[in-house]
Amino acid sequence: MPEQTSAVAANLARVRERIARAAERAGRRADEITLVAVSKTFPAEAIRAAYDAGLCEFGENRVQEFEAKQPKIADLNATWHLIGQLQSNKSRRAAQLFDRVDSVDSLALAQKLDSAAAEYGKRLPVLIEVHLGGEATKSGVAETELSALAEDLPALAHLELRGLLAIPPYSDDPERARPYFRKLRQLRDGLSRRLGRPFPALSMGMSHDFEVAIEEGATEIRLGTALFGSRTNVAG
Ligand SMILES: *Cc1c(COP(=O)(O)O)cnc(C)c1O
Repeated sequence: MPEQTSAVAANLARVRERIARAAERAGRRADEITLVAVSKTFPAEAIRAAYDAGLCEFGENRVQEFEAKQPKIADLNATWHLIGQLQSNKSRRAAQLFDRVDSVDSLALAQKLDSAAAEYGKRLPVLIEVHLGGEATKSGVAETELSALAEDLPALAHLELRGLLAIPPYSDDPERARPYFRKLRQLRDGLSRRLGRPFPALSMGMSHDFEVAIEEGATEIRLGTALFGSRTNVAG
């Protein structure tokens, strides 16, 4: 096995064990939790190594960065998530390149993605990113505007709202993220009730706090550092 593959495979084995233990504590099944490998700042070769180790969902936070890597990994049968803030002038390209956009935070952006998806003849699954307070996270729709945005999305025929994403303010102590995770789940449950349909995806939890997120009901966790090692350049 190439060195890169064995490193990510070893990290993945440890992560899977931690997922299993957290799921067990919460009385959940580990296979309810999707692992999205966050490959931002890492080269296409690292993505291929992760894929060879068994990962097939990847998150990137910049359209241009992914655009540059994509030709080298176009043969992989993987699902590509855009997880970073999207400027509307990149929405057409994003709708073309990605399988899901996890960071929708305004109706204007949703409308752009919808018309781009129409143009490419696809129905694009999306998540709404919710801003849960705190200084550290500036992206996402305000909690007070979430309902209105979620109610407007069904009119956009080429988008399909699957759920919510949030990034709690960073803390060294993962327990401090717990109330934010709980809040996101409550927001999701409230939306499902009001709109009368399920929103299965709750994307929450990163390398430093994913176990708490799983205990609070995450269906997807987004891990970069825990799989690929630390991002030494500042781009991510
Ligand atoms: C970078 C990033 C992650 C992964 O962060 P790690 O701490 O390296 O696991 C997850 N979600 C989003 C939105 C990110 O930008």
